[in-house]
Order: sequence, then C-alpha cells, then structure tokens
Amino acid sequence: MKYIKHICFLGLIGLLYACSNSYRHNPSAHKPYIPPAPAKLPEAPEPKPEEPTQATPNYLIHIVKKGETLSAISKRYKTTVNSIAHTNRLKTSTIQVGQKLYINSSYNPYKTSRKKPTLPSQVRVVPRTSWCETNMKSNVNPMGRIKKITVHHTTAPKNLAKMSDIQYLNIIEKAHKKKGWASIGYHYIIGRDGTIYQGRPINYQGAHVSGANSNNIGVSLIGDFNKKLPNRSQLNALNTMLGYLRKKYQLPATKVYGHKHLGTSECPGIQLEKWLIQYRKK
Ligand SMILES: [Zn+2]
Repeated sequence: MKYIKHICFLGLIGLLYACSNSYRHNPSAHKPYIPPAPAKLPEAPEPKPEEPTQATPNYLIHIVKKGETLSAISKRYKTTVNSIAHTNRLKTSTIQVGQKLYINSSYNPYKTSRKKPTLPSQVRVVPRTSWCETNMKSNVNPMGRIKKITVHHTTAPKNLAKMSDIQYLNIIEKAHKKKGWASIGYHYIIGRDGTIYQGRPINYQGAHVSGANSNNIGVSLIGDFNKKLPNRSQLNALNTMLGYLRKKYQLPATKVYGHKHLGTSECPGIQLEKWLIQYRKK
C-alpha cells in the first residue's frame, strides 16, 4: 500500500513538472486569444485634384475643334480662361485641334450672380437709399413684435402712366412728409413691374392705418385697384412678399388685412380686397 502511495506521489510531481515546462516554452498558450494583425495592404494612390477621372464627375471633356480659342471655350462653358489653363496645366494659351481639355464644371463664376433668388426665403428688395432723394425724419416709434400685415394701394394720379415708379415714390414720400410723418408711411411698395421697394425700415412703426400702426407691416401696391386687379407681376410680387413676411414673422393668412378691414377707407380697392379675402382663406 505504501509503495502504491509513493508511485502516485511521484506521478503527481511528474505531471506538475510537465505542465510547468510546457508553460515555460509556450506561455501564449495560456493567454487570451489575440487575432493576428491583418496583412498590410498596399496604400491606394492619393487622387490628384487636377487630374480628372471617372470619379470626378464635375469635369467635362472638350475636344478642341478648328478655329476655337480658349476664350471662346471658356465662354461656352461659362468658366474662365484661367480656370481651363489651371485645370489642364497649360503653360500657354495655344491649343491644338483635337486636344482634349478638361473643364471644371463646378467652377462657374457666373453661377451666383445669375442665380435666381429662391423664394420666399430670399426676396429682393430695393433699399430705400436707392430710390429716395431725402432722409427720414426722427419722429418714429419702434415697431415692436410684428403681429399683422396690412395691404394698401397707393391710388393713381392721372399722369401716373407718364412717370416711373421711382418718380411716383418720391412724390408719395414728399406728400407723407408734408403731413408731418417721418417718411413714406408704408414699409414696402410694389411697383408696376413687380419690383419691391423698401419704404420705412421695418424696425419703425409705419404710418398707414390710423390708430393701428403698432406691430403692423404696411405693404402698398402702386396703382388704383377699385376697377381692376394689379397686373400679374405685381400680384406675384405681393404673393411672394406676403409669403416671405408671414414665414419670417410666423403669421397665419388671417393676419393679412386690407386697409379697410382695420379702418375707414376704400383702400386697397374693391378688386384687390376681393383677392385678399380669397388669400386670407388659404
Ligand atoms: Zn391704405
């Protein structure tokens, strides 16, 4: 029995030794598994910005034809000679028939100036200083929070057809000042061609609805609209302007009034008032 115990003890010692030996020679066998690092791939070549490829869709290819010049080509693509020369790394302006030119179509110096304004987030308004010959007086009150818009017509003197909108605006400015007002009473005036003019700056109360000028934008259309509607350009401009102002000041269509809805007046004329009644239902 004693002999058997001795054999077992020696066996156990031998096993422990074998394990420790194995650990010494292969320590990683007992560490957590770490996957081998991926093989390093060859780096993709850096794209050269001036070298058009299929992946650069902003480039167009033009094959030079007989008689063409860089200037003519640049005009055709609405770009510049410099842009073509730079894109194609041309050292001189001489080009050959059959030569392949890359045109950078994303570069268009005319793009911004010719771009039509996106409405109604951008409305072009002619500033007061561009049409008015005189300065505003200082007897104005601050507008405060804008709560409504009132539409007017200017009415039309007999000789309106013979004068420009700007001439007529200056006559109104003078007449309103004669009443003791700081300037023309409206904030915006829409000309017969649909041009929108700035009248009194929006941060001041206007002088367009007696007793109801606070928090109220005054928009007037040049003409008399008792017998006829404003022309298409004026109505489009009015619609655009109202949309823009309502969006800006968060006003529902029911906050757009005709002068006669707020005071004793025949303004903005029978026909334009009818249009406004429909507008307010939108
Ligand atoms: Zn009015």
